[in-house]
Amino acid sequence: MTDVLPRPFAVDHPDVLQLDVAALDARPGAVLLARSPFYPGGGGQLPDRGTIAWNGFVRDVVGFEPTADGLWHLIGDDAIPDGTIELHVDPAFRQRMCEQHTVAHLVNSAVYTLFDGALLTGVRMTDSDEFSVDFDLPKVAPEQPRAVEDAVNAAIADDRPVRAFDMPYDDAQATAGLFRAKSVAPPRQADGLIRIVDIDGLDRQACGGTHLVSTVQARRVRVLKVDNKGRQNRRFRIGLGSD
Ligand SMILES: [Zn+2]
Repeated sequence: MTDVLPRPFAVDHPDVLQLDVAALDARPGAVLLARSPFYPGGGGQLPDRGTIAWNGFVRDVVGFEPTADGLWHLIGDDAIPDGTIELHVDPAFRQRMCEQHTVAHLVNSAVYTLFDGALLTGVRMTDSDEFSVDFDLPKVAPEQPRAVEDAVNAAIADDRPVRAFDMPYDDAQATAGLFRAKSVAPPRQADGLIRIVDIDGLDRQACGGTHLVSTVQARRVRVLKVDNKGRQNRRFRIGLGSD
């Protein structure tokens, strides 16, 4: 499969959490929708949770299959959804993902600055107040986790707007610092563009997920621990709202 998948609707419309959409196609346990407020996952961000409803039936959405035509929504049994499908994204879970994702950018920015361009190697978001971000780093001195924590909390307090725009993929590749992930580089879109997420005056990088509108919407963070995960890999465990 070399098809370039369309950008999820949720990426450009993160404020839309409910939508009624006609089913495009269906099979036992799944329905295909051309448009959906659900973020199907990717780039370290977990797939949204929520429900779909039709003709009086309600089911939890348990997974997604992105295709060029739309997004298959998987439910946990063999029901065949049809007609108008009512979609409800779980707002608390989405908020958690937006907060962790935005804070991941801030941690990435702090590490990139404090460790001379160290690249991200992975993000593990969770349904809790702790998540982790991995970097290609051979060594972290004892005082450095605190420096990262202070930089992130300063950025949160600064109330910096978070915005997104598109630019040509090749231009982005030619611009130093826009691709920060060693393993999870965002894809080139069908239109030849790539989405850039900008945290005002602080950070700019290619990214496809959902974020807070401003850094001040995030709770304060603590760097709980830095684990050795291989000779060149350090895992920063981040706690949210812990003081
Ligand atoms: Zn992002």
